[in-house]
Amino acid sequence: MKTLLVTGGAGFIGANFVLQAVADGLRVVNLDMLTYAGNLDTLEPLADNDRHVFVQGDIGDRNLITRLLAEHKPSAVVNFAAESHVDRSIDGPAAFIHTNVVGTLGLLESTRDYWRELEGKAKDEFRFLHVSTDEVYGSLGAEGKFTETTPYAPNSPYSASKAASDHLVRAFHHTYGLPTLTTNCSNNYGPYQFPEKLIPLVIQKALAGESLPVYGDGMNIRDWLFVGDHCSAIRRVLDAGKVSETYNVGGNAERTNITVVKTICALLDAHHPLPDGRARESLITHVKDRPGHDRRYAIDSSKLQRELGWQPSQSFESGIKQTVEWYLTHQPWVQRVLDGSYRMERLGV
Ligand code: NAD
Repeated sequence: MKTLLVTGGAGFIGANFVLQAVADGLRVVNLDMLTYAGNLDTLEPLADNDRHVFVQGDIGDRNLITRLLAEHKPSAVVNFAAESHVDRSIDGPAAFIHTNVVGTLGLLESTRDYWRELEGKAKDEFRFLHVSTDEVYGSLGAEGKFTETTPYAPNSPYSASKAASDHLVRAFHHTYGLPTLTTNCSNNYGPYQFPEKLIPLVIQKALAGESLPVYGDGMNIRDWLFVGDHCSAIRRVLDAGKVSETYNVGGNAERTNITVVKTICALLDAHHPLPDGRARESLITHVKDRPGHDRRYAIDSSKLQRELGWQPSQSFESGIKQTVEWYLTHQPWVQRVLDGSYRMERLGV
């Protein structure tokens, strides 16, 4: 049975990936530091599953990583662990450098040393897959899309730290021969996303009839991908990607932020009208724009589609509908995040 060492597997995308991988019969050692973004509630379905081993720890802790690699002998490391929220990176960039840059370096060094000791097929087949973002490419004008050869031009402390980690991954292949793969994905949405990010935040606030904050004029464009499709792309790259290559991942679903917010309002109004009958669009409030807010992201994922045969399974319309339904039917999960109780048990409070 294949074992993967997955980092950040208690976060939004990592947990979706782990749930899927274990369901597909893989064994996962899940290393996560459990920052505010790590949520063990999400991994509850795996509580009694012996193909899932959870370890709390830092990707930068070389002794721990070395021990986990020696003990579990994974055939791949998949690195999701990161500080991931742009607004938090503006308020406090240091944590982003600690995890995304220094932490990734520690993980790379320990993995390189483990890989060097492997022999034969195990060495040939080993992979280090680094999960990254399209934000490393900066902002686009009205035309064009990011390709794998677009020069890096990160604009926020978050994207700068992810860009640095991508460069380290590249360097570990070119300098030491570590068999690396990198994926750069557009904005994700779907089940288990922390309600500080646009889509779950708007769903929660719209449900409660609260004002819906939208940055600036709301015309910033993001290219949305359903999280399950991001996970299937990572699995495809892991299985068939060419060592040292990078692959862009996206759903061809560019939407302005205001369109996303209005779509959620309409979906909720249709089945859960506000008691006073107001249309939820009337709750939209334009707030001061985020400093350095990138205007447009759009990703060209034709390399992944052409070379590895990957396709997203969801259109934005079907994915957003599923996501709204998921939040409606998983309010206890959301409430435990909002009231902080998802962290209390592990903090011993
Ligand atoms: P998230 O913030 O929901 O989860 C990150 C996880 O990493 C958390 O569980 C956290 O506890 C863990 N973590 C943080 N620091 C750690 C450390 N030092 N050691 C071990 N674990 C640590 O993030 P996400 O949205 O699931 O994103 C996962 C990855 O995908 C990130 O690398 C992010 O850059 C990338 N990505 C995200 C998106 C998106 O739209 N969310 C898009 C493209 C790429």
